[in-house]
Amino acid sequence: MTLNLDETATETVAGPRTLGFTTVQVHGADTTDLGYGARINPVYLSAGFVFEDFDQARDRFAGDDPGYVYSRINNPTNAAVERLVAELEGGAAATLVGSGQAAVTVAVLGIVQAGDHVLSAPSIYEGTRALFRHNLARFGVEVEFVDEPNDPEDWRRRVRPNTRLFYGEVIPNPKNDLIDLAAIAQVAHEHGSPFVVDATLATPYLVRPVDHGVDVVVHSTSKFLAGHGNAIGGVVIDAGRFDWAAHTDRYPHLAAPASGPGTPSFVEKFGGLAAFAYSRGAVASRLGPSLSPFNAFLLQQGLETLSLRVQRHSDNALTVARWLEQQPEVSSVDYAGLESHPQHDLAVRYLPRGAGSVFAFTLADGLDAARTVIDAVEIFTRMTHVGDVRSLILHPPTTTHSKLPAAERERAGIHPGLIRLSVGIEDVDDLLADLDRAFRVLRGERPPSLLARGGTAATTPAEGL
Ligand SMILES: *Cc1c(COP(=O)(O)O)cnc(C)c1O
Repeated sequence: MTLNLDETATETVAGPRTLGFTTVQVHGADTTDLGYGARINPVYLSAGFVFEDFDQARDRFAGDDPGYVYSRINNPTNAAVERLVAELEGGAAATLVGSGQAAVTVAVLGIVQAGDHVLSAPSIYEGTRALFRHNLARFGVEVEFVDEPNDPEDWRRRVRPNTRLFYGEVIPNPKNDLIDLAAIAQVAHEHGSPFVVDATLATPYLVRPVDHGVDVVVHSTSKFLAGHGNAIGGVVIDAGRFDWAAHTDRYPHLAAPASGPGTPSFVEKFGGLAAFAYSRGAVASRLGPSLSPFNAFLLQQGLETLSLRVQRHSDNALTVARWLEQQPEVSSVDYAGLESHPQHDLAVRYLPRGAGSVFAFTLADGLDAARTVIDAVEIFTRMTHVGDVRSLILHPPTTTHSKLPAAERERAGIHPGLIRLSVGIEDVDDLLADLDRAFRVLRGERPPSLLARGGTAATTPAEGL
């Protein structure tokens, strides 16, 4: 199946049809070898897979027989979802792993080794920042953060002889300080490094980073891709384009014999997918963060409605952001979909369908005002998660970003009055009513609850069963 992201173009394609994004999200995991004629990709909860005879066992271990071996390495449920995600992202191949953190770890460790230097955009997920600063540092990998990610010169002048990877996030949380993917990819490639991005808050429905020169895309599938707040997971997608063969001196693990003396290297066997094959076969399989086939099944169910949900999330978020901008207590709204946002031009260029639904706003009166609003909402859920069908609310300064030194937090624009929203797919008028009520509490009013409580409809009568 080939995919054309521009759904309006499918009407005019001649010859073999180029399917639209929504058709692919529904059909991209279809396989013809489902037992019993099942229509849905079954959950193969089997640790291992039977070898029919002695030779088949040997051939599967040698990679000469494509069948399955052991679910830490591969699994038919997961394989179908890997094909689907790779196709939606316009990538060549994908590996599902147990979480978004595992996806970042596996992708990066497939490329770098002790002694290497990594350049990263400054606004990244706090879990990734800690991974870079603490865990990678202990492995001898130094990660340096650029100050001005949209100034190519800032990346360029920090490049060292041992720089091996560029890293960034498509929609940073909570400030939406978007990065110019194509400009950074160009600098990375000038210096023989791949560009790896975390596209969790964008999803392939809003933008496919590989179309803009990115080499490797990672996601926390726990967020929009699974979409329902039920299944932790992660994925690494590789465009298959980076010329590893031209840089074997810089990535010696890809140029060395892959399976002992005299055997071909990852570059010889896999070409543009050398680092992907290494991250899958030599990193993920050994560190072992496999995704349960059950979570892969839940991920596939979520993916089947991705375009519908993310469009609704984005439309609702824009409405909420515009409303927040009108409130006198709000000193800023950091939503890239607003004309007032400093990177709105990048949103227009990279995110024409919408800017996602995770963003922050700041209350001028600081922490106490934030506490009042967060404690007053009734439909938004107080929770550290994003990309859920439900609307969520959180105070980053005292939670996700509480471990950042105060000066760094201020520099990142995470002021005491900052509140993060992940706008869900509810009726947007209800979300506005919830926020309006919370702002009235902030103004000292005592508005009635929006929700009828007291158990009228919640009991099931025994009669009539
Ligand atoms: C949540 C998140 C992660 C980590 O993913 P988990 O599935 O929670 O491990 C990484 N990057 C971004 C942008 C995220 O939002």
